[in-house]
Amino acid sequence: RPVIGVLALQGDVREHLAALDRAGAAPVTVRRPQELAAVDGLVLPGGESTVISKLAETFGLLEPLRERVRAGMPVYGTCAGMILLADRIADPRSGQQSVGGIDMTVRRNAFGRQNESFEAPLKVAGVEGGPVTGVFIRAPLAEKVGQGVEVLARHEGAVVAVRQGDALATAFHPELTGDHRVHALFTDMVRAKRTAGAL
Ligand code: GLN
Repeated sequence: RPVIGVLALQGDVREHLAALDRAGAAPVTVRRPQELAAVDGLVLPGGESTVISKLAETFGLLEPLRERVRAGMPVYGTCAGMILLADRIADPRSGQQSVGGIDMTVRRNAFGRQNESFEAPLKVAGVEGGPVTGVFIRAPLAEKVGQGVEVLARHEGAVVAVRQGDALATAFHPELTGDHRVHALFTDMVRAKRTAGAL
């Protein structure tokens, strides 16, 4: 089983650990640089991107995260995690930092407030067996994506799932649905990378 970390500073960490376990990975929490160094891949959970980025800085994780992503560690961000993976944030809060890794500009809270949360069926490229239920909670969207970025899903025209190399991001939360197909897709990416590294 590939060892996949979940950045456990804030957000829906437990749900990701459970989804990764069902998807066939060996999930672990990551709070320190040494823990980050030990994983084959990493999930950045949903939560509040400003809080996660501040805590990452406090815990001395921001630079190590950037370095590992730059070095090609597979990474998957949901919602706040998608914002953290964006090279550019259209409407950052003051002092908000990102990890980067995907050549895109995201807009935060693009679908409205908490009480405007919704679910929608989404066709996600690379996920077989019918639509994925997209749970959108103060979700971002990718306003602009670079040429190297593959769009995996749209909702009413808005880009809500992307992949660039070994970085995957969804504006929605598959970890909240009990459907672990997107986590299985990510686990496969991590497995492929690990195999490639071993050759
Ligand atoms: N709006 C939040 C942010 O800016 C993300 C919400 C979520 O992760 N569900 O980080």
